[in-house]
Amino acid sequence: MALPPRLLKQLRRIVGRDHVDTGRADLQVFESDGLTLHAARPACVVYPVSTQQCSEIAKACTAAGVPFVARGAGTGLSGGALSDGGVIVQLSRMNRLLAIHPEDRYAVVQPGVVNNYLSLQTRPLGLEFAPDPSSQMACTIGGNLAENAGGPHTLKYGVTSNHILGQTVVFSDGEVASFGGPFPVSSGPDFSTFLVGTEGTIAIATEIIVRLVPVAPSVTTMLAVYSSVGNATDSVSAILEAGVLPAALELIDQLCIQAVETRLKAGFPTDAAAVLLIEVDGEEGAVKGEAEAVAQACRGQGAVEFHTAQTEADRQRLWLGRKHAAGALGSITPAYYTNDGVVPRSKLTDILQTIYRLGEKHHLRIANLCHAGDGNIHPLILFDPDESQGKERAMACSEDILMACLELGGSLTGEHGIGVEKRGLIDRMFSRDDLAHMRRLRSGLNRDDLLNPGKIFPTGATCGEIRGIRSLPPGAWI
Ligand SMILES: Cc1cc2nc3c(=O)[nH]c(=O)nc-3n(C[C@H](O)[C@H](O)[C@H](O)COP(=O)(O)OP(=O)(O)OC[C@H]3O[C@@H](n4cnc5c(N)ncnc54)[C@H](O)[C@@H]3O)c2cc1C
Repeated sequence: MALPPRLLKQLRRIVGRDHVDTGRADLQVFESDGLTLHAARPACVVYPVSTQQCSEIAKACTAAGVPFVARGAGTGLSGGALSDGGVIVQLSRMNRLLAIHPEDRYAVVQPGVVNNYLSLQTRPLGLEFAPDPSSQMACTIGGNLAENAGGPHTLKYGVTSNHILGQTVVFSDGEVASFGGPFPVSSGPDFSTFLVGTEGTIAIATEIIVRLVPVAPSVTTMLAVYSSVGNATDSVSAILEAGVLPAALELIDQLCIQAVETRLKAGFPTDAAAVLLIEVDGEEGAVKGEAEAVAQACRGQGAVEFHTAQTEADRQRLWLGRKHAAGALGSITPAYYTNDGVVPRSKLTDILQTIYRLGEKHHLRIANLCHAGDGNIHPLILFDPDESQGKERAMACSEDILMACLELGGSLTGEHGIGVEKRGLIDRMFSRDDLAHMRRLRSGLNRDDLLNPGKIFPTGATCGEIRGIRSLPPGAWI
């Protein structure tokens, strides 16, 4: 779909000719995000460098009635950064660290700063940005804010919302506003995190104030090995009941272990039914005591082996196995679908049993990674896209898993958002009235629904929702 020529001319004037892409090959890169099951082709991609340029882009798109979507690194796993025929506002040139205030423990960043880059710059000062999604080598702070990203260390340190102090935003009509700030203000409503988790549907964050936390002086990383998944999940509860709040408490099951060992050689025993990767951090004395309590809890629940990383290299190898586990699946499958659901921690055993049963029902292999301490599951559903109905079976299986999460008192997503992927399911979690109020709030701020339309809420396209946004009728963004 071509853009109105006048709008294209305006966009070129705002950001410069070289920073507007409309070529077929250039646009192809933006057809997908991390959720590769969905695809949509934008009409144009613009690369602004400032809040002012974002504001002018928003004004121009709104005046032309053309939808537009902010995009960070495109690692999102729910199709949130896709645009069917609209303008993608690609924020990768807005990648400057504007200020670091070590004494007051905060930084001001542009949204396109890569998550890991921020901590690399602040660690020499003894500080870091705590949210650490496994995609942190690529994903941006803007994307983290929009998705309220989590990661292995959110059990102790909290998700992105716990680390955002303020933001400058551009609304769909181009208006600019700033909310929150580096220091607490006790009067009036607290809007410091108001854009967090809104998936790019309310405003574009163009400057973000983030909290920095001290790097822990001492860290111990451990691997507990199990011959039964139930013993591993029981250990999760036992560790917490022992009064330890680990920095990370991750579960990796057998199929995932096999992929990791094929590709990465992290040192996970391939005959294990599951392993727990556990990290405790803090002052040296406390860490030693907590590590002993963890070892006792794991052995008490039937761990067949228990290892403690002796060197930083050992520790990094274990984390490589966890953080790159999803990518390692490429060694055992042509494609996989990443599911993201939540159950109460006490229901981890139930949901994993259900997942294995659903795998058999749909004739699919499922590898599991869990932020176990948070009850956040990531079943990775392996399928062959060339097989008849391969993708459809994977999607049906994913939906069954999410419904099982809801039945167990959990939720549709722990950290990947709703996007286009789960908008057809959101009414299973929220009542019609709740959704109507949410829509009202959104349309109060995104009046013409031109900013990231078709995300989060059902569009009324029923089956089309989940089958891919290409199947929606033309103009479905309106
Ligand atoms: C291998 C892999 C591992 C992952 N692991 C994790 C994990 O451990 N934890 C986790 O939470 N997620 C994880 N993710 C998902 C993803 O990395 C996160 O959701 C991340 O926060 C997305 O950041 P991004 O910059 O790629 O955003 P994008 O994908 O570009 O965009 C995501 C959404 O944010 C919106 N957006 C982006 N920037 C802005 C902005 N400045 N203002 C307003 N809206 C904006 C977009 O419109 C879109 O709706 C993983 C993904 C992959 C591929």
